[in-house]
Amino acid sequence: MTERSATPLDRARAAYRGISLYQPDRTPCRIDLSDNTNLFGVPPTALSILRAAPENVITRYPLLYADRLKAAIGFYAGVNEDNVVTGCGSDDVLDSTIRAFCDPGSLVATSTPSFAMIPLLAQMNGLDVVEVPLRNDLDIDAEALVAAHAAVTYVCTPNNPTGNAISRESIDYVIDNAAGIVIIDEAYSEFGWDSWLLDAAGLSHVLAVRTLSKAFGLAGLRVGYAVGARELVTEVEKSRGPYKVSSIAEDAATAALTSDLEWVGERVGEVIENRARFIDELRGMGLKPLDSDANFILLPTKDAAETARQMRMKGVAVRPFPALPVTGDALRISIGPWHMMEDALAALGESVR
Ligand SMILES: *Cc1c(COP(=O)(O)O)cnc(C)c1O
Repeated sequence: MTERSATPLDRARAAYRGISLYQPDRTPCRIDLSDNTNLFGVPPTALSILRAAPENVITRYPLLYADRLKAAIGFYAGVNEDNVVTGCGSDDVLDSTIRAFCDPGSLVATSTPSFAMIPLLAQMNGLDVVEVPLRNDLDIDAEALVAAHAAVTYVCTPNNPTGNAISRESIDYVIDNAAGIVIIDEAYSEFGWDSWLLDAAGLSHVLAVRTLSKAFGLAGLRVGYAVGARELVTEVEKSRGPYKVSSIAEDAATAALTSDLEWVGERVGEVIENRARFIDELRGMGLKPLDSDANFILLPTKDAAETARQMRMKGVAVRPFPALPVTGDALRISIGPWHMMEDALAALGESVR
């Protein structure tokens, strides 16, 4: 055929040909333990702010760079608001950070298994990815990550989907030796015990990224943030652009971070208690769940996809991970109120082989 047969699709970015839309099974299910959101509900002050939203929150543009939210985050994290950048979910913060510090063809280094969005975000930005397998003890291979000489090195702690916190020793090695920017993704750190927020504010090449989607129960509002040096945060804001956090999301997130900390803390306490109890029950069934520092656990099991399908038919959604590096087939199960965990145990008992 002639050149005229070229379709607009032929002009799409070449790097996008290998990308498919993100499509985990989100068919509604009686109990959804598949995405690690807060299963206890909405923080009360945030909810009342949402219910009482005035008209100008809808008709007018939001603040350019969410300065009110940045102040609330600074207060919560114990850093200056100039050390904070926000975004439309932490996915947006991660995307903007990767874009800000990479040119087409640059390298992003991450671990595997780790957060599945990172290779995708790298690909979306025309970058190459180095995936370094976790060690057998599920700590990162810090030396191999550093040896990649990447423009951006990503570390997730506690790690999704394995659930374990990465050792401070390994993360400090990466921070001390990495060639470029280091991202520490702390999406689940409210459920663990360690953090790099304060370290990041005092270093010149580290961003600690967090979200309101998990412990804070605001996933639908899409609010995430990062803490880092002022110069770094400014570069991320350039790449992010203005108006990324809606007014209603900013108001609710600000309320949650200032007035709902007790509620959040109590729910985190419940998760930690239920997590230990759930792991005990699984071990009692002869299963081998991994220890967790997050609000989910990873359960290596034969034929994860089929087990998840059977659990779904019994009304409990969990996230299957077929053939994960290091652990093999596994189910990731979010931790919520105990009655949900009892249903998960029942569905699992009938489904697991
Ligand atoms: C859920 C999750 C995020 C994304 O959260 P949003 O703020 O909702 O975009 C980021 N990192 C990790 C590791 C996550 O599990």
